[in-house]
Amino acid sequence: MADAAAHGPRFGTLALHAGVDPEPVTGAIMTPIFQTSTYVQPAVAEPKGGRFDYGRTANPTRDALETSIAALEGAKHGVAFSSGIAAIETIVKRLSAGDHVVSEENTYGGTMRLFTRVLARLGIEFTFVDTRDPERIRSAMRPRTKLVHVETPTNPMMRICDIRAAADVTHAGGALLSVDNTYASPYNQRPLELGADIVVHSSTKYVNGHSDVIGGLIAVRDHALAEELRFLQNSSGAVPGPMDCFLTLRGIKTLHLRMERHNANGLAVARYLEAHPGIDRVIYPGLESHDQHTLAHRQMSGFAGMVSVDVGSLARAKSLSERLRYFALAESLGGVESLVSVPALMTHASVPEERRAAMGLTPGLVRFSVGVEDVDDLLEDVEQALR
Ligand SMILES: *Cc1c(COP(=O)(O)O)cnc(C)c1O
Repeated sequence: MADAAAHGPRFGTLALHAGVDPEPVTGAIMTPIFQTSTYVQPAVAEPKGGRFDYGRTANPTRDALETSIAALEGAKHGVAFSSGIAAIETIVKRLSAGDHVVSEENTYGGTMRLFTRVLARLGIEFTFVDTRDPERIRSAMRPRTKLVHVETPTNPMMRICDIRAAADVTHAGGALLSVDNTYASPYNQRPLELGADIVVHSSTKYVNGHSDVIGGLIAVRDHALAEELRFLQNSSGAVPGPMDCFLTLRGIKTLHLRMERHNANGLAVARYLEAHPGIDRVIYPGLESHDQHTLAHRQMSGFAGMVSVDVGSLARAKSLSERLRYFALAESLGGVESLVSVPALMTHASVPEERRAAMGLTPGLVRFSVGVEDVDDLLEDVEQALR
């Protein structure tokens, strides 16, 4: 306890305890699933706790999840959503028509679709750049740039954005920096500590980690920014249900354990594939051969389970991914079970072909989400599929 008092609790302790207090009436150790749409008020316009008046506005199970993600990201405030995309949309909805966003060009496909086909139509302007180079962010910024949005590592090309450098140029231009931290998880990377203003997760992936919930989370330090995001959460209404909040809280309790295994298995699979003669190229930030390995090493403490390989052609990509036994052929990532996908035909099919080509997303690219199985079984599986 003396140590905890001196340093504050460490990550694994926060994963178990942040936001999770015994329920006051019975002492139930698990956060109850407050499956209710409304609350009885003791007197007119005097909701309990000053705010429990309606389920979209406030829910105690959601509160616990919001407290938990804030603690894990070294933030002060968490805001929960019904999906990662709803969380990202909320960040941009702070802006008005005519405002401008600079975004990484190799974002998650659904983020690109939201920006170019929905929010651009409402008059918000976007410029897409390669955020590996902070100078490109700087030169894309305009007087009305309010937000710079990056993803690091990116999906599936594993580009790394230097968060500290991006924060510096963003702040010099008077904008806020948001970082999609889905791929790394808060266990491996904490963007707010590197100068970012907003961190966002698709908690569907590593944070929940069990492939049974769609969800999104935002964490921020600034109180006024948190109030704006909560206003939008309530006004637009893409809130998560209490059951999903409970499941995500349960997933978070093993986040540190899962990520240690994802990190170890991801590196083992990447090393194995790099040494395999049937593979043209392996992209994994934890490999010395990754062109931004030094930067990745500086701002991340582990490299998670996402490994991309180029097998040379679409036909080979299809046959490899269809022959695997333990790697299920599916979109999504970050769950305990291993998955494989062919981005050009699956997750990134909605990205225009010339944009895919520009970012090096070749037809022969195969993306592995390495799970927490026994790694020798995973390596044997890859071996038999490549044979
Ligand atoms: C999946 C994903 C999203 C979208 O999240 P949903 O929960 O599917 O809405 C956003 N960013 C990244 C990096 C993702 O992998």
